[in-house]
Amino acid sequence: MELSKTRQQEQDSNPREKFIMAARRHKILSNKCSRCGHLMLVTVYYCEKCFSHKFESNELEGTGKVVTYTIQAVAPEGFEDAGSYAWVVFSVDGTDFNVSGFLPGVTSASDLPLGSRVRVLDYHPKHGLTLQKV
Ligand SMILES: [Zn+2]
Repeated sequence: MELSKTRQQEQDSNPREKFIMAARRHKILSNKCSRCGHLMLVTVYYCEKCFSHKFESNELEGTGKVVTYTIQAVAPEGFEDAGSYAWVVFSVDGTDFNVSGFLPGVTSASDLPLGSRVRVLDYHPKHGLTLQKV
């Protein structure tokens, strides 16, 4: 079997690394099912809807609306200076794709009404996506 050059390049960086590189550019890398168009995390290996494992890489703007969140009073390691924070699930603009991330500086529900707009700011090696309010 011969690998095309593109496939070889894709295999050079794993899905998680590619996801992180996209997050640093404020984007969300997802996989789009070639058969049914369902969007999934890049770490998912087959389509949750039709079980196909043929995907196209699909880069989304890292902006969306808060669907739900949990406020934590004690910040995790690496975020001690962030004070309280929220673990946020947000719906990515233009999709029904939900992604979760970390939003520093949220102390009460009034800081973050549901439907607030957030965007991907960065990727933290331990905690995942870092968000900011927009
Ligand atoms: Zn599918």
